Amino acid sequence: MSRNQKTRIRTTGLAIFGKELVRRCGSHCELCDAQGVKLFVHEVPPSPQTPDLEHCIMICDDCRNQLVKPTAVQARHWHCLASAMWSDVPAVKVTSVMMLQQLEATEHWAAQLLDQAWLAPEELRWLDDARN
Ligand SMILES: [Zn+2]
Repeated sequence: MSRNQKTRIRTTGLAIFGKELVRRCGSHCELCDAQGVKLFVHEVPPSPQTPDLEHCIMICDDCRNQLVKPTAVQARHWHCLASAMWSDVPAVKVTSVMMLQQLEATEHWAAQLLDQAWLAPEELRWLDDARN
């Protein structure tokens, strides 16, 4: 299969997930809870070979932009993680903890939240994989 074909399949897969994800997130950003804004499917690394719904989160442009571009991060936006880190969705938890770890060096509140964070063993493994 060519790279283009693979990309197309992945994109189609993600579009189908969109509907499922909208249902899961109730049209709220799964990280900051924004509503009434356009939401995007974001794949949480590492991307599995075939797109996997469980590896996707539905987030607003603001969150997405800051997730993919560390220089765009505005710490005050991420106080939302205080509730996102308790999500029922593992991908949301893993993303929250990843972001808190990025913030903790400069943000005292982020370090405090990390102290309370709780991840299941498979979520911890995911977190490790995401860093590599
Ligand atoms: Zn958001």
